[in-house]
Amino acid sequence: MISLSLRSKIIIPFVTIVLFITSITIIFFSYNKIYIQTILIILVTVGFVYLWIVNKQSQTDLVEAKKNLLLKVKELEISQKEVIESKSKAENASKMKNDFLANISHELRTPLNGILGMTGLVMDTDLDNDQKEFLQMIAESGDHLFRIISDLLDFSQIETGNLTIKPVLFSLSNLIKNTISVLKPTADKKEIELLYNIKPEIINFYGDRVRIGQIIINLVTNAIKYSDKGTISLSVELEENLEISIIDTGIGIPDEEIQTIFDSFVQIENTYVKTHEGVGRGLAIVKQLVELLNGSIEIESKVGVGSTFKISFPVVPTPPGQKEIPEKFNLTTNNAIEGLRVIIAEDEAINRIYINKFLSKKGMLVQEAVNGREVLEIIKTKDFDLILMDMGMPEVDGIEATKRIRELEKESGGYIKIIALTANAFPEDVRRCIEAGMDHFVSKPIKEQDLLDIIEETVNAES
Ligand code: ADP
Repeated sequence: MISLSLRSKIIIPFVTIVLFITSITIIFFSYNKIYIQTILIILVTVGFVYLWIVNKQSQTDLVEAKKNLLLKVKELEISQKEVIESKSKAENASKMKNDFLANISHELRTPLNGILGMTGLVMDTDLDNDQKEFLQMIAESGDHLFRIISDLLDFSQIETGNLTIKPVLFSLSNLIKNTISVLKPTADKKEIELLYNIKPEIINFYGDRVRIGQIIINLVTNAIKYSDKGTISLSVELEENLEISIIDTGIGIPDEEIQTIFDSFVQIENTYVKTHEGVGRGLAIVKQLVELLNGSIEIESKVGVGSTFKISFPVVPTPPGQKEIPEKFNLTTNNAIEGLRVIIAEDEAINRIYINKFLSKKGMLVQEAVNGREVLEIIKTKDFDLILMDMGMPEVDGIEATKRIRELEKESGGYIKIIALTANAFPEDVRRCIEAGMDHFVSKPIKEQDLLDIIEETVNAES
């Protein structure tokens, strides 16, 4: 079958030209040969009839092609609609996954707070060595579970764009020294030497101390985990960016795996990994955090020799000659909190009892409330300095109770400091608490020293 374009572009003009030239030739040369004239006139007529038929056929084909085109456009519209629907389904699924992670993280944090808190309280009582060791194991497992839950939350926060960088002024060398001292006992158990080398001019920076600390802890923990012996050294250079290298003499990573180890939940398939705890989430988070810091991460590794993880990110240095900022770490004296009158508003009995016991042991005078309504009744009868307010409670929740307290204070004067104590650890939750009139925020599971520091900071702050 001759194509439509061939017919319209070549055949029709060609036949038209031939017929035209033939007609002119006939009329010019054969004016006295009537029979030739007749034959040629018939031929020309046949030619023109053919031309007419071809033209008609072309028009039919054109209509047909137009129809096909419209059909294709319709098909395209349908597939476009399907793509939009699939995209929206995928977005919904991703949102559901993130909501699920956030909810599950919340649900797990609350009981874990009870487990870790109560374990700590029992550990402070008279125990024999076996009991102490078993409780220590419970505490370590609880801590490990807490890290996994925090990572799950980080995942969902990074994916929804909720994790933002919060720069503060901090001392990198103090942060590194503290990180090393926390991880040293684990390294000692494997007889791995932990070294660090920080140039004296690298002192204070503006940067996200928490996230930079999280990256370093993850990389050094991996270096210990994937080494049986040898040395792990951490070195810091300040070029255009801050460059931190973590060098180990561990099992190394095969070339073909280096590209994938930053993917979520990827672990290299080998027996070594199977014998070590982990779910392949650490490096995925590290990479995302480094990218949030506008930085990059590189790996050099050789199987059986070791690996170097190098992170590089911009920081804002402070002018030279500044005093080093001390790390708030293992601070054990919180003088301002003794004798503080505190209400613990918490509907979960185990958590309430644990916090009560913990704060009472620190010299605070504690009263319990199971919801916001009880808090409002208690403060009518007695003066208090501080309320530790759970966000989600029955009848009157923490947010509502805080709003009502702040309203009441407008008439009565006075001001009770309120710290949100909650398993909801999203920035959005912090914003809601502060907007309701709370002064500070502590997320569960509580780190006891953090809670004491925040209480001290809050009661000392101007209201
Ligand atoms: P996890 O340690 O929980 O398995 P990570 O995301 O931290 O997950 O690491 C992913 C994989 O990368 C690990 O399972 C391990 O195979 C490999 N890996 C990470 N760090 C090192 C290292 N320093 N040396 C050798 N292999 C490593």
